[in-house]
Parts: sequence; structure tokens; C-alpha cells
Amino acid sequence: MPELVIAIDGPSGSGKSSVSRRVAQALGLAYLDTGAIYRAATWWCLDQGVDLADPVAVLAAVREMPLDMGVDPSSPTVRVGETDVTAAIRSEDVTGAVSKVSSNLEVRAVLRQLQQDAIAHEGRPDSFSGGLGIVAEGRDITTVVAPEADVRVLLTASEEARLARRAREVHGSADASAVEATRAFVVQRDKKDSAVTSFLEAADGVVTIDSSELSFEETVQAVLELVERRR
Ligand code: C5P
Repeated sequence: MPELVIAIDGPSGSGKSSVSRRVAQALGLAYLDTGAIYRAATWWCLDQGVDLADPVAVLAAVREMPLDMGVDPSSPTVRVGETDVTAAIRSEDVTGAVSKVSSNLEVRAVLRQLQQDAIAHEGRPDSFSGGLGIVAEGRDITTVVAPEADVRVLLTASEEARLARRAREVHGSADASAVEATRAFVVQRDKKDSAVTSFLEAADGVVTIDSSELSFEETVQAVLELVERRR
């Protein structure tokens, strides 16, 4: 296994992706965005013309997906076969459909194994981190995928703060109409997702960091301090 595994989960807009990337960069670790894996699976099903309402067809397609995750935190990439889907998996079509794929428990089992393999791979000297380890981020990472991680964090923020952040990211502003336009994606998607993953409360041994009142740098610092304490 890698020397250090850091697992970070939390709801949409909590900042877990950007914080995880910066922590990985600071420590020379690989970075795994598990949400991107679910998004890639969704992109692949849509690309293959698979009916997302057919769980058997979705599972068969996901089993065949030729996924290649680039784990460099300064430029994480996602490829499916020959196609670079790093940008395409952020489209509204994929974001709107991803919960249909991620609520399929058999699909989750396939993708969980894939995530565990990617984490274990970072223990190898010929991996991106050279055996140092990985920051893995996503909704059930601290509880289901990597419950044995050295550092486990639940990154939360108030709904208000999360909506404002996503609105700024997607619409370039956090005025009332931008926040309303974001609400469906953030709040409804978390509601759909919480049927199969629990990321709103910290499990035993998971440290909660509430970033509502913290800047990005302060949040990164809070995670790095947890890692320091662990050493
Ligand atoms: O984090 P992100 O918004 O990219 O995640 C996209 C979707 O992937 C989530 O809405 C959720 O349905 C699914 N997901 C999941 N388990 C994870 C990570 C993501 O179900 N560990």
C-alpha cells in the first residue's frame, strides 16, 4: 500500500476537488477524483447510446469502459479509449444524468474496485507518486472505498456557501439569479446521491472541516495540519 492515503468526501460545492488537488501538489501525492470516474461512466453510456433507465445495460457498458485516469494533481485528465473526456464529463448533459448511473449498486461495486486498484497502484515505485501515496476524493471515499485511509476528512460548508461557490464557478457571479440557477444542480443532486452514499455526516474516525468561514488557503492548511498530526 502507499505510504500515505488521504480520503476526502463531502457534498457538492464544498471545495473538495480544489482542496484535494492542492494538498496532493503540496505533498507530492497523486490525486484521484472519483466523481470524474462516475462522470466518465455516464459519458460512456451516453456515447454508446445505452438507455440509462436499463440497469443491466448500464452495468454491462461500465464493465467494458476503457477508462484511463491521469492522476497528476496539476493537470488531472480522464480518457475513455482514445478520447480525452476531461472537459466533456463536466457538461450539463452528464451532470444531469450522473445520479442515474451512480445509484446503480452493481455499477458502484465495479467502480469501487477500480478506485481501490488506483489507490493501491500508488504504492508502487513506478507509479506517479513513486509509492508516496494519493489524495482520493469523492462521496463515499472515507467510508466505503478507503475506510483504512491514514487521514479521513469530511469537508462541509453551509448550503449558502456551497451554492455561492458553484454559482461563481459556473455563472461567474453569485447574484440571486445565478444562485437559483445553481440550486437544482447542487441541492437536488446531493439529495439524489444521498440515497446511496452518505456524505453529509462524518463517520467514526473521520474529521469534519467546515469551510463556510475559511478561505481556500485556510482550508488547505487545515487538511495539511491533520496530516502533520498523523505523522
Ligand atoms: O463530485 P462530482 O460532482 O464530480 O460527482 C459527480 C457524481 O458522481 C455525483 O453527483 C455522484 O452521483 C457520483 N459520485 C458517487 N460517488 C463518488 C463520487 C461521485 O456516487 N465517490
